[in-house]
Amino acid sequence: MDNYDVTIIGAGLAGLQCARLLARKGLRVLLVDRKNSLDQKIHTTGIFVRRTLLDFDIPDDCLGPAIKHVTLYSPGLRSMEFVSEHDEFRIGRMGQLYQRYLQQCVLAGVQWLPETSYLGHVSTNGKLAVHLSTETVTTRYLIGADGARSRVARNLKLDLNEEWIVGVESVFEGVCIDGPPRLLCFLDPELAPGYIAWIAHDGEETHVGVGGYSSCFDPPAALEKFRARVANIVDLKDAKQIERRAGYIPVGGVLRNIANTNGLLLGDAAGAVSPLTAGGLDPCMRLSALAAQVVGEYLSTGNPQDLSVYSGELFRARFASRLWARRIASSLDQRQLVELGCAVLRFPLLNRLARHVFFGRGSFPDVEMMESPHLAPAGKN
Ligand SMILES: Cc1cc2nc3c(=O)[nH]c(=O)nc-3n(C[C@H](O)[C@H](O)[C@H](O)COP(=O)(O)OP(=O)(O)OC[C@H]3O[C@@H](n4cnc5c(N)ncnc54)[C@H](O)[C@@H]3O)c2cc1C
Repeated sequence: MDNYDVTIIGAGLAGLQCARLLARKGLRVLLVDRKNSLDQKIHTTGIFVRRTLLDFDIPDDCLGPAIKHVTLYSPGLRSMEFVSEHDEFRIGRMGQLYQRYLQQCVLAGVQWLPETSYLGHVSTNGKLAVHLSTETVTTRYLIGADGARSRVARNLKLDLNEEWIVGVESVFEGVCIDGPPRLLCFLDPELAPGYIAWIAHDGEETHVGVGGYSSCFDPPAALEKFRARVANIVDLKDAKQIERRAGYIPVGGVLRNIANTNGLLLGDAAGAVSPLTAGGLDPCMRLSALAAQVVGEYLSTGNPQDLSVYSGELFRARFASRLWARRIASSLDQRQLVELGCAVLRFPLLNRLARHVFFGRGSFPDVEMMESPHLAPAGKN
């Protein structure tokens, strides 16, 4: 039976980031995913925010052109423009990025096991026997980076996500939209109950999608309706659809109990998504960097106290305002009310607040914010 220091289930952004950092510390790492290729079945739009681009080494050729412009539309399609002096967003070429990070993992010594599902694990003699669809391996520590509906979380007896929105989008090439690259965000509780519909256009790729509480809408039907509604804003008649993406987004905030002496959770499995914007890529990078430090420390000392810093309870305290904003967003279920809300966003104070939501830099707590004598700051990696 093969023997590893750390076994990571899930090779999304969270699992890949953590695997390469742990392997660079000299640990024996196994990375497992049920997909046969990481550029298949992608379920994210892939918009990276400025803060992530500044703090982490996302390869430039895996990112589209920069976006500074945001247009917000009310249900009646009244628009409001926001322009930043900075390059705020870039849409990741996610298939390419996952493959690049996987190459870096393998180069650092990670053992890669594609087309393999995690089935469960048992604890034996201070180690874990991890049952995979292809074999059983032993590991000192197990990491669940297996997405929003994590089987690893359940088996480790850690917390589980309970509040979701669902997102579905089509990706097009060859779309012409006048003006510079931009994000177009549409508030409409019928098409996107509790969230937004969007067009993310960087001049090369155009993502057209809707998101919302699944109990309140039919996502594919809403997407069709949305396409028809924006026909005067974006002409998709001659555009080539290259992909369809969809997935669950946990929006209940980072879970409280995300680590124990057998394992921990990363990314969506940990609920590490902004409850307000539903952005999860920045938290993937940040939480995985912290996890790599904490797990490296714990495996070298064996002291459970080293894990105490990896606590959702500590993170949640910094999420209070975004959790409130989510509650407000989910309760706005009437178009007239949202129309009114959009109108008052023209007042300077509320306009500044909206700018802050689009261009603010607080996505997930910095690793440096966590108070541990062991943890060095996480910079570019
Ligand atoms: C439609 C949509 C659009 C989004 N757009 C954005 C955006 O623009 N910007 C942003 O910041 N966030 C966005 N998000 C959120 C963001 O994509 C996620 O938070 C992030 O991708 C989560 O990464 P992850 O690595 O935690 O999980 P995932 O990317 O879900 O990776 C989990 C991996 O685990 C594997 N897996 C699962 N179960 C098993 C098992 N039992 N055995 C083996 N492997 C398993 C899966 O195959 C998968 O590869 C979006 C989400 C959706 C659904």
